[in-house]
Amino acid sequence: MIPYGKQDIDQKDIEAVIDVLKSDWLTQGPKVPEFEQSIINYARCKHAVAVNSATSALHVACLSLGVTDGDLVWTSPISFVASSNCALYCGATIDFVDINLSTGNMCTLELEKKLIVAKENKQLPKVVIPVHLAGQSCDMQRIYALSLEYGFAIIEDASHAIGAKYQNEPVGSCQYSDICVFSFHPVKIITSAEGGMATTNDPILARKMQLLRSHGVTSVDTEMTEPSQGPWYYQQVSLGFNYRMTDIHAALGLSQLQKVDTFIAKRNQLASLYNDLLNDTLIAPLFLVEGTYSAYHLFVVQLTVPCKAKHRELVTQLRRHNIMGHVHYIPIHLQPYYQAMGFKSGDFPNAERYYESAVTLPLHPGLTIEQVQYVVDTVHDILS
Ligand SMILES: *Cc1c(COP(=O)(O)O)cnc(C)c1O
Repeated sequence: MIPYGKQDIDQKDIEAVIDVLKSDWLTQGPKVPEFEQSIINYARCKHAVAVNSATSALHVACLSLGVTDGDLVWTSPISFVASSNCALYCGATIDFVDINLSTGNMCTLELEKKLIVAKENKQLPKVVIPVHLAGQSCDMQRIYALSLEYGFAIIEDASHAIGAKYQNEPVGSCQYSDICVFSFHPVKIITSAEGGMATTNDPILARKMQLLRSHGVTSVDTEMTEPSQGPWYYQQVSLGFNYRMTDIHAALGLSQLQKVDTFIAKRNQLASLYNDLLNDTLIAPLFLVEGTYSAYHLFVVQLTVPCKAKHRELVTQLRRHNIMGHVHYIPIHLQPYYQAMGFKSGDFPNAERYYESAVTLPLHPGLTIEQVQYVVDTVHDILS
């Protein structure tokens, strides 16, 4: 079976992990801060906070922005459930902003429409979480302008998008957001096995997230409510978690980060090969917006006329031909857990149409030209 995504691990990665295993520190050693500093340099941001997953990063990001009971958080319905679950962890109410059908990203016109209504009803969101689907940045400049007008904070879910660029700036620079989150799960661009990172330019948010990832405990005198009682002393000042990344994971992530540009160049090459070879009016790749450089976490094609039956047939047939076709994503609001909160079919029509059209074809650095040709031939055969 040709997988839709796969990690690329070399001898250097393996040695980096073994070195940590032989060292004095398996966790809370030097590798995590080293990984964080490398992300800071790479993404051109001021702070980076490593955690054990992007899900944890989204959670501490929301908490650091003060999301709590009664607050509203908006995200995209075409994402992995973690993008919206983070708001629910904080006791907030979640809502969705419909997508642009051609990019799959949050539609800024829909966002503005929804904000106008929300302002009238005094129900503005505290945080909006745009998701850079498949590795292509959302229209962050527009979302940022709306955030200034309507007073919400922005967390970028860039789980797909480390190494992507927006207006020539790396995603993660937080030029137009408060916090940006990366995932290092093995199917993503680079991996630390499990792992995530939150970047920000705000030292206060960074410090809050650092405390939240480690029990809310501090040993810094100035953060304590009274003078230190001695060198052993620490205080718990917030309700944190154990969301720490280990040094073993950080060493792998750090080693992988050295190759991120090579991986993405390869992904872009393979994507343009797909674009050249795919030659059927029944399908089209996701639209690439000018001024964005996609990290191409996923290669998504869409049926030009959404059709449930054809969509299902395409993915089923691909798998029969040993190609792991996939669908990213089932609209979150249609998940049973979300339907039980009152969401229903018809709430976000573009997201639902997208779901009846989008198919993820295999794309990862280890994919060969022959495999791309085989996938394309198979897609053409199935459609004809
Ligand atoms: C993978 C993913 C996450 C969660 O990442 P983990 O590191 O597995 O917790 C969140 N959002 C999106 C869009 C993702 O694709």
